Amino acid sequence: MKSMDTNRLAELLFPGVTTRPADIEALYPPRTLPEGAKVTRMAPSPTGFMHLGNLFGAITDERLAHQSRGVFYLRIEDTDQKREVPGGVETILSVFHEYELPFDEGASLGEEIGAYGPYRQRRRANIYQTYAKELIRLGKAYPCFCTEEELTAIREKQAAQKANFGYYGKWAVHRDMPLPEIEAKLAAGVPFVVRFRSEGDPSRRVKFTDLVKGAMEFPENDQDVVILKSDGIPTYHFAHVIDDHLMGTTHVVRGEEWLATLPIHVQLFAAFGWKPPKYVHTAQLMKMDGASKRKLSKRKDPELALDFYRKEGYPVRALKEYLLTLLNSNFEDWRIANPDLPMEDFPFTTKKMSVSGALFDIDKLQDVSKNVISRMSAGEVSALLRGWAKEFDSAFYNLLSRDESYTEAILSIGRGGKKPRKDITVFSGAKEYLSFFFDELFTPDYAYPENVCVTDRQRILTEYPALYDPADDSAVWFQKVCALAEKLGYPGVKEYKKSPDAYKGHVGDVSMVLRIAVTGRPNSPDLCDVMRLLGSERVLCRLQAAAHALSEETEEKNCD
Ligand code: GLU
Repeated sequence: MKSMDTNRLAELLFPGVTTRPADIEALYPPRTLPEGAKVTRMAPSPTGFMHLGNLFGAITDERLAHQSRGVFYLRIEDTDQKREVPGGVETILSVFHEYELPFDEGASLGEEIGAYGPYRQRRRANIYQTYAKELIRLGKAYPCFCTEEELTAIREKQAAQKANFGYYGKWAVHRDMPLPEIEAKLAAGVPFVVRFRSEGDPSRRVKFTDLVKGAMEFPENDQDVVILKSDGIPTYHFAHVIDDHLMGTTHVVRGEEWLATLPIHVQLFAAFGWKPPKYVHTAQLMKMDGASKRKLSKRKDPELALDFYRKEGYPVRALKEYLLTLLNSNFEDWRIANPDLPMEDFPFTTKKMSVSGALFDIDKLQDVSKNVISRMSAGEVSALLRGWAKEFDSAFYNLLSRDESYTEAILSIGRGGKKPRKDITVFSGAKEYLSFFFDELFTPDYAYPENVCVTDRQRILTEYPALYDPADDSAVWFQKVCALAEKLGYPGVKEYKKSPDAYKGHVGDVSMVLRIAVTGRPNSPDLCDVMRLLGSERVLCRLQAAAHALSEETEEKNCD
């Protein structure tokens, strides 16, 4: 096709597009940023479903940008209206807010922030059309009028001939359609898409370097891919190239499923004479399924959805820290060496990113969560726990809020110091763990140690109250328990161990009886602290109730 014709064709196809690329380029000047600053973006589709993969990429984007004093922005990829759900953008914004991944610019619910917008792709139709028109003018793109049926027929022929599928070479039947024919189709109102005219040859290789995967090589792309759909809205390929060029993205972080089409993107950048950004293709999140690994799936794995973690009550920081352990292989060691530093101090690098699939392991996440919660202040745990309960368990929320200082005091037990208690893994599990602190939730299970006979149990429960003084410090508290134990024939642990057959048990068994009576369970934080918090009235009342329950037991055991 001669250049005269392509100008004419461009006007025929896009009579309403009067802007030229230069007009648009003028609106997107190069960014002025410090040396080495990275510009990254999160580019989700508003499908209403936010998943671990989104967060995985977003942490990478956010760290790369903010660590280098660059820019992290949000672009809404809403070109596929079929996949869009109402409220999809709100969901995206609220997730990024919740996960504390602050955007510097981009789409928002009100006015957009930043000078490189619009940041919603459907609002950029004129921009894409301007560049598509330019490619037509340059003879690098053309209209294709093929119907679904025609494309299916091509596919069937390719299948019969065992040829590669797609629209390329001799199969690209509208590639060289004469202008009069095009005019006739347009006059008849036949819808068209715009395809890129590929000069690629799969026998040649295209080379590039991915910051995670390293040096790579692929066959050149020979497909004449669609760049504009019949409604004038771009495909992902075209929108990616135009937007990331204009918006000055320096690093494109995206899932490795996009690697396969990277040769198309490289070609499109070259068609405009633009420098492509650097690419960071992140590994897929995998999980073990029996003995084999597989990709996390929306259908099979509820833990893929970020909503799952909200409902379970994983702190945001736990999920982020865990994803960091998957993203950077040295994060865990860094965390051990720096238990108290904010995770933002970790020097994140693409060099430590996993090349193969990242194995998501929920047990490991729970471990991280336990650690993260154990390092929080009581006030912070209290605020987060109440926030969780407010949304998911209002009765529990009311109990926690009745006396905030009591709640905080409960959560202070065993906190701080080198070895803080790690009792809470997720906030949804905290109610069970904290239940005995609230009379409304206290449902004791009097499963006393077998080696303490019923008479001894009874004596412990009835004699201890006379010794108990809530003003005792923990040393005195313990001496008193020891004294009672001794009197009943239960020595200290050391002595007991010297000749275990000589005794019924040791002091630990006696304090276990007290623990079970007061907390209703064999595991609790430090009993002296617990008693102090419950207050003497409640402690005495529970000891009495336990003694009463015991005396009602019909089955008596003999004491040796
Ligand atoms: N909208 C694309 C997706 O959600 C974005 C991929 C990219 O970051 O370029 O997968």
